[in-house]
Amino acid sequence: MVSAIADKVRAGGRVSAGEALELYHDAPLTLLGELADRIRASKHPDGVVTYIIDRNVNYTNICVARCNFCAFYRPVGSGEGYVLGFEEIFKKIDETIAVGGGQLLLQGGHNPDLPIEWYEDLFRAIKERYPAFKLHALSPPEVIHLTRTSRLTVGEVIDRLIAAGLDSIPGGGAEILVDRVRKLLNCYGKATAGEWLDVMRQAHFKGLRTTATMMYGHVETPAERLEHMIRVREVQDETAGFTAFIAWSYQPEHTELGGGEATGLEYLRILALARIVLDNFPSLQASWVTQGGKVGQLSLAYGSNDMGSVMIEENVVRAAGASYCMDEVEIVRNIENAGFVAKRRNMHYDVLGGPFFREQDVPRQLSLATARADGDTSRPEELVNYPARSAAEKKARTRPQTNTENLPQNTEEPPQTNTEQHS
Ligand code: SF4
Repeated sequence: MVSAIADKVRAGGRVSAGEALELYHDAPLTLLGELADRIRASKHPDGVVTYIIDRNVNYTNICVARCNFCAFYRPVGSGEGYVLGFEEIFKKIDETIAVGGGQLLLQGGHNPDLPIEWYEDLFRAIKERYPAFKLHALSPPEVIHLTRTSRLTVGEVIDRLIAAGLDSIPGGGAEILVDRVRKLLNCYGKATAGEWLDVMRQAHFKGLRTTATMMYGHVETPAERLEHMIRVREVQDETAGFTAFIAWSYQPEHTELGGGEATGLEYLRILALARIVLDNFPSLQASWVTQGGKVGQLSLAYGSNDMGSVMIEENVVRAAGASYCMDEVEIVRNIENAGFVAKRRNMHYDVLGGPFFREQDVPRQLSLATARADGDTSRPEELVNYPARSAAEKKARTRPQTNTENLPQNTEEPPQTNTEQHS
């Protein structure tokens, strides 16, 4: 009975997968909102809603995983593939610091020509230039990709990345943590549900905090959405390492999978259920980047206590058709208009202060930046320091130089590995 489950939630009880499914099917949205808001208020009684100023940088779009829901990646050898140079990334950090940001959310495709040493060199170079700047980097499938290219274990890869400057791990690549769904999305090869959860478990035991995400609205059933939530709740019971849960709807445009997009009301239903099920997660983020500012603001009445990131740059969701933008002024306006106090935070959800734009003049940001300007096909000079593994990259290194390319001089071929076959 829905009313009995609602009473249990009001009394602080934990719902089972079956009870959550009953709520999903039979509870009115208003009831779900009431329960979720009650939980949010009990966990965050100060009326504060937080947000972070960081930049979402996708260091490469070249990817061997080929998830069929992804409009962002380009296959190895594509003329539209890119790898950002270290200097380009430094410039993005300078721009982020100028608007009050202190972190990069750094994620990218599974590029066989970027070995673990490339990541280590990048992280070290960033920390050397910007010692206080934080790196929230490499989702679990990227960590697993590095285990395959380096032949190291998950634990060894995480240790090396921490030694180079990794501060925390973003919860991307989770999609739905059910292997039936992952096989249908062609993302089972990049990471099974168990592998994704294991990377997070190991990261937590090594002292890193991480987030968890869920991308719903494609081929999964309602029961599988709830199974996903229960699986991350179980890991959280074990480790307490997740800081926040972020759900967003699948964005279908330009993807191989196609189909339609879940509605705003469905988003609020999922969000409220997540707040009810994930009783051990301190925070729930609103996904305004997929839902837009107005539904993002409504999220604050359906369980969210955080507006996520000002973001500055976005490439992945935009490739699939969504292009919402909110700068700090707009995020704070939405938080305050909903009756909350807006505070800036870091990845650990420590409050850093009030809105940065009230302390310092910053230019309004009316659109999100992209990884690169259109038509920029330049190749970073430092790529020659790392062995080319793919046939396409080896060939690119022997092509004559053009005006738009900084072609490498070193054409020595290292031993080839089988990194393009893993997915
Ligand atoms: S979602 Fe990530 S891993 Fe999958 S194809 Fe896109 S870039 Fe590659």
